[in-house]
Amino acid sequence: MSKPAPLFNRLTLIGIGLIGSSIARAARAQGAVGSIVATARSPATRKRVAELGLADQVVETNAAAVEGADLVIVCIPVGACGSVAQEIGPHLAPGAIVSDVGSVKGAVVRDMAPHLPKTVHFVPAHPVAGTEYSGPDAGFAELFVNRWCILTPPEGGDPAATEKLAAFWRLFGANVETMSADHHDLVLAITSHLPHLIAYTIVGTADEMQNVTRSEVLKFSAGGFRDFTRIAASDPTMWRDVFLTNKDAVLEMLGRFNEDISLLTKAIRNGDGKTLFEHFERTRAIRKGIVDIGQDSPTPDFGRPHPGIAPLPKPYGSADD
Ligand code: NAP
Repeated sequence: MSKPAPLFNRLTLIGIGLIGSSIARAARAQGAVGSIVATARSPATRKRVAELGLADQVVETNAAAVEGADLVIVCIPVGACGSVAQEIGPHLAPGAIVSDVGSVKGAVVRDMAPHLPKTVHFVPAHPVAGTEYSGPDAGFAELFVNRWCILTPPEGGDPAATEKLAAFWRLFGANVETMSADHHDLVLAITSHLPHLIAYTIVGTADEMQNVTRSEVLKFSAGGFRDFTRIAASDPTMWRDVFLTNKDAVLEMLGRFNEDISLLTKAIRNGDGKTLFEHFERTRAIRKGIVDIGQDSPTPDFGRPHPGIAPLPKPYGSADD
């Protein structure tokens, strides 16, 4: 039996860092697209993408990259999405699906949508998967396996385009959920943006301590600090843009966080063990819930290498699809 045609004929990736290069690798491994065209801002990244063989064609400009593509995914920091949409708008093929991978969705919709022609389908996306590493060398095909990809199609969009993009992400082993851009930004403010802000803060605080040396902080980091340092090593440009573009939701969550930390501060000051114990018991149940639904492993790693990455599902068009 002959293989079915790939889901998309021509995939264009604008920006080939951790996420763009992981999409390129997964799309290749899964036979999801006929060909891949890639571009990046700097000549150095374009050269590296060519050396790694991540795309069939590496081109210089965003406008040239999107010509004839039926799927265009913008994989760059959120703050740069508007100007890129303005560049590519006039060059998009009618019927193309245009998407992104930004960690904030309201700002991406606001900045990109006005520049896209009515003849294309705009389906913003956010794969909730990543590492603290950046650049085309950092990506890997299995990054999205068992992770969520959230789609935020604007109201009145074509459901078939959303479903086709969902099928694309499922080929990479991702689970797909659809919600409004505003709801996405609120959910991610508490599950991702606030934790990153806390990690950036605590690592900075430790760095400024006078009476605990930096070597002591590093030496005894397994006491909890180490996990924060991994998150606080995330890309500064990406995270600057996240906080600038999801300001309202982050401030809302930060307000709640400050209220709760005041309550715990008071409990410590008053020697109120009951309040502390009940709080920690509640948070332990949340951890158990995350492990139970397979979003983390219960295995303690204590600094050992990751026990392994889940494999990709069967490629597109394999015998028992
Ligand atoms: P990355 O590894 O740093 O790669 C960023 C890419 O964007 C590079 O190709 C870079 O080109 C290009 N770029 C940077 N600034 C640009 C600009 N002003 N105009 C045009 N291109 C520009 O970043 P990433 O981790 O893949 O993140 C990309 C997007 O994915 C971000 O919107 C982020 O919010 C989202 N995201 C990230 C994660 C994560 O954990 N990292 C997870 C989910 C979603 P050069 O190399 O030529 O500078």
